[in-house]
Amino acid sequence: VFILAIESSCDDTAAAVLDNDKVLSNVVANQLIHNQYGGVVPELASRAHQQNIVPVIDAALRKAKIKKEQLSAIAFTQGPGLMGSLLVGSSFAKSLALALQIPLIAVNHMQAHILAHFIDDEGKEKPTFPFLALTISGGHTQIVKVNDFFDMEIIGETTDDAVGEAFDKSAKILGLPYPGGPLVDKYAQLGNPKAFVFTKPKVPGLDFSFSGLKTAILYFVQKKKLENPNFVDENLNDICASIQYTIIEILMDKLKMAVKETGIKQIAIGGGVSANSGIRKTLKEAEQKYGWKTFIPKFEYTTDNAAMIGIVGYQKFLSKNFETSAVVSKARIQF
Ligand code: ATP
Ligand code: FE
Repeated sequence: VFILAIESSCDDTAAAVLDNDKVLSNVVANQLIHNQYGGVVPELASRAHQQNIVPVIDAALRKAKIKKEQLSAIAFTQGPGLMGSLLVGSSFAKSLALALQIPLIAVNHMQAHILAHFIDDEGKEKPTFPFLALTISGGHTQIVKVNDFFDMEIIGETTDDAVGEAFDKSAKILGLPYPGGPLVDKYAQLGNPKAFVFTKPKVPGLDFSFSGLKTAILYFVQKKKLENPNFVDENLNDICASIQYTIIEILMDKLKMAVKETGIKQIAIGGGVSANSGIRKTLKEAEQKYGWKTFIPKFEYTTDNAAMIGIVGYQKFLSKNFETSAVVSKARIQF
């Protein structure tokens, strides 16, 4: 089975070709245009998708050495995401499926961040059901109980900012360019995580809150700058390490609670923030420390990519879960 997968939910135009659960090609065109605005500008994102989509899909097919006539189905991101961005991918997928007379498959982007673990990666071990997924990305922060491929329950989620936003907004306060998450990670590796202490929010149950942390960091930086205008420059590594440490503590506290409540000790992480080296390291250590089995995605399957859309497409293909071209994009979508 050859599946062409298309992802265009936010600011990356991505296409992949899968042979069953193996990735033959995985192409992403990033949109650098947004960096100068300090965040994704929706209208610019959809225009850039328009420009990128044909070359990206063409590149994915060429890299995979697959002709479009060989494709078995086309999978695309239905949502959640920016409506204008989603529409570019879905319209293209619908037209191509119609032209090639092959099935069309709609994929939930957040399910895809979780199911990316089922991509066949040279014998890399896959989670078994049920497992807990911690999805940490630019728009979401969720703990999901994954009972089966398409049987998922959100048992905890953020009540305000997503963890990716916490990284990006903290970075912005420090004067770092957008998206700041990867930069905080980079500087954190050189700093002392215990240099500064930021209080953790008190949120009941398995839910999260990150907006208070951002405010705490803002006040902290403003106060320190009064004493020393060069405070941020002189302490950037330590500040980043301390912010990252606090975020990881918040995530780990809730994960520990979730394990206790469900009795499930298999933990898979997914979403853009799972690229974070501190989170990856802490989870690996949790195997020894708490007897968990943890699953950390390959770097290229963490931030937005089409291979993850393709693996969900493959699962839906097996169960003949197809759509007609009447299917609509959804900015918000439940499992
Ligand atoms: P969603 O998946 O919720 O719709 P999205 O698709 O915009 O949101 P992703 O591409 O999955 O989000 O993730 C992007 C986020 O990941 C950004 O906030 C970015 O800063 C963050 N991020 C990427 N790499 C790292 C890293 N190494 N450390 C921390 N954050 C990171
Ligand atoms: Fe995403």
